[in-house]
Amino acid sequence: MKGRIHNFNAGPAALPLPVLEEIQAEFLNFKGSGMSITEVSHRSKWFDEVAGDVTSRVRRLLKLDESFHVLFVQGGASLQFCMIPMNLLPEGQSADYVNTGTWAAKAIKEAGIQEKPVKVVASSEDQGFSYIPKEISFSPDAAYAHITSNNTIKGTQWASFPDTGGVPLVCDMSSDIMSRFFDVSPFGLIYAGAQKNLGPAGVTLVIIRQDMVERVPEHLPTMLKYTTFVEHNSMFNTPPCFPIYTIQLVLKWLEETIGGLEKMEEINQEKARLLYQAIDESEFYKGTAENKSRSVMNATFRLPSEDLEKQFIQEALKHGLGGLKGHRSVGGCRASIYNATSLESVKALADFMEEFARKKG
Ligand SMILES: *Cc1c(COP(=O)(O)O)cnc(C)c1O
Repeated sequence: MKGRIHNFNAGPAALPLPVLEEIQAEFLNFKGSGMSITEVSHRSKWFDEVAGDVTSRVRRLLKLDESFHVLFVQGGASLQFCMIPMNLLPEGQSADYVNTGTWAAKAIKEAGIQEKPVKVVASSEDQGFSYIPKEISFSPDAAYAHITSNNTIKGTQWASFPDTGGVPLVCDMSSDIMSRFFDVSPFGLIYAGAQKNLGPAGVTLVIIRQDMVERVPEHLPTMLKYTTFVEHNSMFNTPPCFPIYTIQLVLKWLEETIGGLEKMEEINQEKARLLYQAIDESEFYKGTAENKSRSVMNATFRLPSEDLEKQFIQEALKHGLGGLKGHRSVGGCRASIYNATSLESVKALADFMEEFARKKG
């Protein structure tokens, strides 16, 4: 392949081209340090500026007030599945979980391993996780209510967040953080592995409210306690400097080139509209998620046969369209259209889909 493809990977996923170019341009000599960002001390003024700026950008973009802490943790979203019940679910209390697919199920499992009481208050398993449950009764005395805002594998997404009656929401936003603006006030904790919509793999953004920090038990291993990250500005040990730096550039692009989250959401909506139109207009493609629960980030669809799906993915790649294979657990096709995937790429995909359906349908 000469040049870059239209990248529809689910994660690790596309990064904005101007960000990659900026990394390349300053890679050998970062801001006059004579070193690359991967070679400077995490206690140096160079990295200090990166860490300060990325935190300010997260705060500005999501309009976080002083009660929220912005943390950078390793171990992926998967470690958060474990840290959340460990830190936020006190003895004698239970937490509510909504099961909307693979990632939610893994979060539930990690609480179970610690023998923490969890209640699955709603599930869409009855229909193969093809929808987001509605009218959920949350327990008024739950320590928190856990949801997965975007279900990367099944292609469903909460269009708006549920009313928990004041119970703090804890949310896995790995695959849609920074794709739209939302009100953070009902959230006690938000987490997102970086490799979908923020940057490279290796770091997880955690946003935690002060009242949740106050619950953290004293006697937990140092690196598994949110308080360690809060007290040491995520620098108790060496942080993943390069992923954090890349997130800084991605958020700068989001603020300064795109123009913020409302603008990003508009573009994302337009991309999703085009893609779902390509799916719906033809009898050839079948979306797998219920219409009202469809994800703006991951469109999942099937073709009339597995053989045609294979051909579709192969031919697409020949046209410079990559990453269209569905998750190995479900098969089919999936186009992930995160922030960095341009409208132009989605148009190219929609055109290809129309042509492929005409040829094979
Ligand atoms: C990818 C993904 C995960 C897993 O993230 P890791 O960083 O690999 O642990 C968890 N939740 C959601 C919603 C995801 O999309």
